[in-house]
Amino acid sequence: MNLILLGAPGAGKGTQAEVICEKLKIPSISTGNIIREALKNGTELGLKAKSYMDSGALVPDEVVIAIIKERLAQEDCKNGFILDGFPRTVPQAEALDAMGIVIHKVLDIEVPDETIQKRLSGRRVCESCGASYHLDFKPSAKEGVCDKCAGKLVIRKDDQPETVRERLKTYHESTEPLCDYYKKTGKLVVINGQEEVAATSALVLKALEA
Ligand code: AMP
Repeated sequence: MNLILLGAPGAGKGTQAEVICEKLKIPSISTGNIIREALKNGTELGLKAKSYMDSGALVPDEVVIAIIKERLAQEDCKNGFILDGFPRTVPQAEALDAMGIVIHKVLDIEVPDETIQKRLSGRRVCESCGASYHLDFKPSAKEGVCDKCAGKLVIRKDDQPETVRERLKTYHESTEPLCDYYKKTGKLVVINGQEEVAATSALVLKALEA
């Protein structure tokens, strides 16, 4: 199954992508994680993306489209994949269609902006593997240490309150129109993000069975 997860930054796409990945044994692909990895390694892509990312803006379409094209061509995507954070603009969705990629379902996780602002202030991510945690809602077993790889948990630079406000603005302007785009194809399923991560996961898994 080829899936897209839509939703504002902090709506819990990454966490739900991990749940689906476990359940369906298909890779979860996060353009944000790919870009952060490039930044860490100081590659040309990382350098190109840094200023956009740091300010809460979107990286130019042609850059992320090239990333996703290369990633989806890899062997592990043959039996399906979950896209977390791509597409984020209508031209990105059109590029996916132009690649001949068939999307089976688009799950839109809806969470109010105020909840998102609270959530992102407690978010911590593993600087080694990118796994996501939350101080209140999804704490790691040992504070500051990743359960999966024992990497160090850090606050993302773009989770600072001012940058979060900018990211939400960008989301409403550029990404929300994708809901209409996919509604027209009949593939959109709206999930009301719940306070409990497990409650949202239950809704997500139910939507996949339907
Ligand atoms: P994320 O981890 O998905 O919240 O992404 C972090 C940042 O990476 C975003 O705020 C953008 O600057 C950049 N980014 C990730 N995915 C995309 C995309 N599909 N289009 C443009 N920029 C992206």
